[in-house]
Amino acid sequence: MIDPFGRHISYLRVSVTDRCDFRCVYCMAEDMTFLPKAEILSLEELDRLCGAFIRLGVRKLRLTGGEPLVRRNVMSLFRALGRQRTNGALDELTLTTNGSQLARFADELYEYGVRRINVSLDTLDSAKFTAITRWGKLASVKDGLAAAKRAGLAVKINTVALKGVNDDEFDRLVAWCGDEGFDLVFIEVMPMGEMGGETRVEQYLPLSLVRARLQKGWTLEESDYRTGGPARYYTVGETGWRVGFITPLTHNFCESCNRVRITCTGTLYMCLGQEDAADLRAPLRLSEGDDLLEAAIHEAIARKPKGHDFIIDRRHNRPAVSRHMSVTGG
Ligand code: SAM
Repeated sequence: MIDPFGRHISYLRVSVTDRCDFRCVYCMAEDMTFLPKAEILSLEELDRLCGAFIRLGVRKLRLTGGEPLVRRNVMSLFRALGRQRTNGALDELTLTTNGSQLARFADELYEYGVRRINVSLDTLDSAKFTAITRWGKLASVKDGLAAAKRAGLAVKINTVALKGVNDDEFDRLVAWCGDEGFDLVFIEVMPMGEMGGETRVEQYLPLSLVRARLQKGWTLEESDYRTGGPARYYTVGETGWRVGFITPLTHNFCESCNRVRITCTGTLYMCLGQEDAADLRAPLRLSEGDDLLEAAIHEAIARKPKGHDFIIDRRHNRPAVSRHMSVTGG
């Protein structure tokens, strides 16, 4: 699949549920309304949808959410997709998780071909962790991380940089990731969905500042390491592990965008930061064959926009897109 700007689309992110066992303050409102079950694709339908994308050239698949590991029986989807990895159709099967259920699932994930995972963790302080996630417990995530290590999964920690919330902990996070053997990626907070309460201007911290501050205490050597994602990586001289930065606001990385995203209702978003979307559930359900589905995918890729334009400042203190990250899948 090649889009109108010559970009090869080889990476699909699939939100398998909009539900989550956390309510991170920058991601969801506390009283979120979730989709009725009837609207959500079954695991078999998700497998079929992924199969169509793989036939059309997708080589990397990431399951996300909501929290992917809270979807009932989600391991059956990992098992099915794992076969695509074994037969060489996929290069990578991975997930983004909050880690709360990893202690239960790490071994199975490895068994089904997952080798690297992203775990979201914004603080190492238990009280702050519960304040940010509203419902989460740091200890269960740490247990999950230990299980992931034992299972042989490589871990990348994703940390959203939040002004006045975790910006006093970045050095500690770099040191801790070095000790644990994890890569660490900082992410700028993106203006997605209404939060209630805090505003984006209050939360937003440009990563150019974060990097400059880190460079006072750590040797950051530029690295050409790429995971197929938008992060720019540095190797931390003192630990040997990597620190990456995802900067959707201060640096627009759309020129190399190779991905599209599917929601758990089968809506395809060609860009995280734009509203345009294509419904794939109807063609999926209309016929048993995949011709209609594949035609709908091609038609959507032909409309992939050049990029997003997230802005956060006092004049633009509104969501750039109305949907929450948990809908599109972060
Ligand atoms: N539940 C999983 C998790 O916690 O990783 C997967 C879904 S979560 C929506 C994926 C990632 O999106 C998390 O790292 C989260 O911190 C990030 N995220 C959510 N809302 C965001 C926002 N407005 N700006 C930046 N990152 C956000």
